[in-house]
Amino acid sequence: MGAELVGVEKQHSVAFDVNSLRRDFPALDQKVSGRPLVYFDNAASAQTPLCVLEAMERFYREDRSNVHRGVHTLSQRATAAYEAVRPKIQRFLGAEREQEIVFTRGTTDAINLVAATYGRKNLGPGDEVLITTMEHHSNIVPWQMVCKERGAKLVVAPINDAGELEMDRFRELCGERTKIVALAHVSNALGTVNPVEEITRIAHDAGAVVLLDGAQAAAHLEVDVSEIGCDFYAFSGHKVFGPTGVGALYGRYALLEAMPPYQGGGDMIRRVTFEETTYADPPMRFEAGTPNIAAVIGLGAALDYLRGIGVAAAAAYEAELLSYGTQRLRDIEGLRLIGTAREKVSVLSFVMEGAHAHDIGTILDDQGIAVRAGHHCTQPLMDRFGVPATARASLAFYNTRQEIDRLVEGLEMVRSLFG
Ligand code: PLP
Repeated sequence: MGAELVGVEKQHSVAFDVNSLRRDFPALDQKVSGRPLVYFDNAASAQTPLCVLEAMERFYREDRSNVHRGVHTLSQRATAAYEAVRPKIQRFLGAEREQEIVFTRGTTDAINLVAATYGRKNLGPGDEVLITTMEHHSNIVPWQMVCKERGAKLVVAPINDAGELEMDRFRELCGERTKIVALAHVSNALGTVNPVEEITRIAHDAGAVVLLDGAQAAAHLEVDVSEIGCDFYAFSGHKVFGPTGVGALYGRYALLEAMPPYQGGGDMIRRVTFEETTYADPPMRFEAGTPNIAAVIGLGAALDYLRGIGVAAAAAYEAELLSYGTQRLRDIEGLRLIGTAREKVSVLSFVMEGAHAHDIGTILDDQGIAVRAGHHCTQPLMDRFGVPATARASLAFYNTRQEIDRLVEGLEMVRSLFG
């Protein structure tokens, strides 16, 4: 596939050598439906570079054993490789201490952890959790569950037609009853980047803590939790070019220290008797049981890889690609973009007159183009826009203008069939 793209990308990005980067991702180099794959489903799960696959294979081939519990050499090597990832995530997120990084199964797990520990401990009748209309189900349902259990109320800040948070309404809704503000840094279905520093200031002035769902931000923006000032930040490995089944939660240490455990088991204790158990300090308090060791190691390799490319350089390249894609899609008759925020990254979500999102997805797949079709785990957001589903092309730094042109060609075919 590389040869097809050489030249085209050179015109647009001399400094950012996308053709060479693509060679790091073996899955991109294949045909689907007889045509070179165009992978535009990066918001659901990004592809994995060879260095990540190799790091995981090295663990299984050479160091495979359990962590934190063996005096033997393999266990020590496994523990060292595993624990070396914590400071990498600390740097990646701009956290002050590595003890503020908890390994999780992903964003969903991280949000559930905070809801089930901080939420359960600190919410009571009359308290409020403030979220937004654009949340992924994993930043709605855990709060709904804990609110129900604790007699608290889930409050939703609205968005405008462009898919931006209505800040005046947010300010009004964030009051003395608000105990937790939980929102996406970047919306998965719209691409909207929320003004998280301002939101954090407003929430802190009201006495609330802030959890940011960084699932869609971590691969596309330089994140600095110290600058943002948020209290919790969650992201997933598989969206930052790492493996599935792993992610991390940043939590301010003073908050983590005051939180009860999430799950009970091995590794999270200080001392166990049948009468009573005392718990380990954070982050171990929240990491019961044998973790996904290979995936943590793979995540570390993915963050090294991203650092090598430079998140800022990748973001600049993607911004140009998004702008090109937006112009091209706007020219397609009968196509309506859903999510046109001024601050936006990586997502082109749309509907087309006469064609269901799933038809669009299927026709594009017949041409080797992978997009996501559906509600994107944001059903309340789909309701807000009055659509059952959208088709979504989501970009990564390895995508190209030529691939956008393929998408446009595919959509013209949809229009000719359904328009
Ligand atoms: N939050 C957002 C904004 C997402 O896009 C996703 C996944 O698509 C999640 C949370 C859940 O992430 P995971 O399934 O990796 O836990």
